[in-house]
Amino acid sequence: MKKEFKAEARKVMQLMINSIYTNKEVFLREIISNASDALDKRYYNDLKSDKEVNKDDYYIEIKPDKDNRILTISDTGIGMDESELESNLGTIATSGTEKFRKNLEESNVNDLIGQFGVGFYSAFMVSDKVEVISNKNGKSFKWVSEDADGFEVTSASKTTPGSDIILYLKNNNDDDDFDRFLDEYALESLITKYSNYIRYPIYMDITKTRKKDPEDENSEYEDYKKREIINSKDPIWKKSKKDLTDDDYINFYKDEHFGFDEPLSWLHLSIEGLVAFKAILYIPKKAPFDFYSKDYKRGLTLYSNGVKIMDRCEDLLDDSFAFVKGVVDSEDVSLNISRETLQVNRQLKFIAKQINNKIKAHLSDLLEKDRDKYYTFFDEFGNQMKMSLYESYGMKKDQIQDLLIFNSKNSDNRITLKEYVEKMPSTQEKIYYTVGDSIDKIKAQPSIKTVDDNVDVLYLIDKLDEFLIKMLRDYDGKSFESITEETDTDEDSSKEEMFKKMKDILPDEVVEIRKTDKLEDDPVILLHRGDISIEMEKTFKNQTNTDNVKAQKVLELNEKSKAYKLLEESFDNDNEKFEKITRTLFDQAKILSGLEIDNPAEYIRNMWELVGE
Ligand code: ADP
Repeated sequence: MKKEFKAEARKVMQLMINSIYTNKEVFLREIISNASDALDKRYYNDLKSDKEVNKDDYYIEIKPDKDNRILTISDTGIGMDESELESNLGTIATSGTEKFRKNLEESNVNDLIGQFGVGFYSAFMVSDKVEVISNKNGKSFKWVSEDADGFEVTSASKTTPGSDIILYLKNNNDDDDFDRFLDEYALESLITKYSNYIRYPIYMDITKTRKKDPEDENSEYEDYKKREIINSKDPIWKKSKKDLTDDDYINFYKDEHFGFDEPLSWLHLSIEGLVAFKAILYIPKKAPFDFYSKDYKRGLTLYSNGVKIMDRCEDLLDDSFAFVKGVVDSEDVSLNISRETLQVNRQLKFIAKQINNKIKAHLSDLLEKDRDKYYTFFDEFGNQMKMSLYESYGMKKDQIQDLLIFNSKNSDNRITLKEYVEKMPSTQEKIYYTVGDSIDKIKAQPSIKTVDDNVDVLYLIDKLDEFLIKMLRDYDGKSFESITEETDTDEDSSKEEMFKKMKDILPDEVVEIRKTDKLEDDPVILLHRGDISIEMEKTFKNQTNTDNVKAQKVLELNEKSKAYKLLEESFDNDNEKFEKITRTLFDQAKILSGLEIDNPAEYIRNMWELVGE
């Protein structure tokens, strides 16, 4: 009986069937990668059971059949039973996420394949019809589909373990030549290009020529077929760095489905000693679409001497480096390690620590030697490091503080805290910062204009930054200070009465009102007192439960401004006008700080009344 695809799977199928994706050849990588996963699973199960295990029984085989235009990819892996055929090949695992759905709606196939990969379904970019015949635990079934309408699962007679993926290739058309996927040489070169480091042999019959009669010098030649292994088979991480090209590393990244982008950079480790291990670790170029969501599954693939024992082993990666992808292989890690025993495993802890140090060193190196690359990295993953520092209540200060970068008043590009401190004039004791939604908005802040030219100020434009700075407390013995936090001023009591009168008009709104000689053009500035800054108030306002958290505000008046003169003039003889000016100035200070004013209509009325007079 024909079954329907789940909605997303059907949509993906349609996209694949009508695909104009230019890089259709990637289907082969996808199918071979699935085969390799299936082999990993069976091999691991068999090793853990009492069965006698013969490594030669685990392989992949590619069979092009030119006459019938069929390409078969077989594996001797774990296989799928009836219900797995239906659920694994009838739905899409990633469909739970909103983003995936949305992308489907806007469906640009290149983006879709680029960002999500579509695994098995990519077979439909090159095939009219796909059959999967699979044997698991001695029983076999066949899955077949010809279009996006649905698929059928029936019983089958395959007797050996594993799966055959049978692709009935599309006819050639003006745009594309599908026959190339039946050509031995083309297949061979695709496999060495994309799947060279699959750790199981990939067999294919290769056409050779030989003399019909080896004894006869003038003998005619004939073709014959010889079954050969066409991939390298050794795990890439066991090779020496000098024998590997950038392409090798990039292809391995794709083979392993670490991402559909290209990695930004990588490191290849070979550590000897107490616990020996090898690892290849990647920094992706783009954060996966679900990276900052709860769904994201982090971790490194763990091998015990070449046998995969776990995908995404979380305990190998510190949270601050959760974006790192890669493999770790150690002879010193037991095959029988389980998720439950991971956390107490000494070898694993040792490896995790080494990996952490190496990643940190790698990122520091990148920061020093390739700033542009580091900016790309930081744009994607800086937040992860920040969040991790924040969530550790500052415990990860040493790990992360030197990897942070910030915009600043006196530099065109982002700088580190170390670079800030190095440039501090000898008289400067604190690291200054200011917070705002964007660099442009910060540049327009009255407070920034009050800072000396040779004193730099960090621009914190990321929501998390200010909280982070509070968490850090100091850097290199120098504490952080916001330029919008009030500093002690010389008490000048000459206008006390006027300020007191203003304060009576704004009793709860401000904690203090005073004058300043630091401002140039702006009539007022709003500073804060204590731990909660004005920017924090804005952040809190958008969250339930904290929308009542308010900064303690200090209103400073520019004693050189026209507004100040008007205040002085009305102080003695016009109470109504004095109140209007006071309220207007406070509202203007709020506007300059990016805060909402309570009563815009009243503000505007007051403004025009004052102008009119
Ligand atoms: P992904 O590989 O990203 O999970 P796919 O669409 O490629 O997505 O495959 C869906 C699922 O089908 C796989 O997770 C796996 O469980 C199963 N599968 C695909 N190919 C094979 C195979 N050759 N042998 C066993 N299971 C397979």
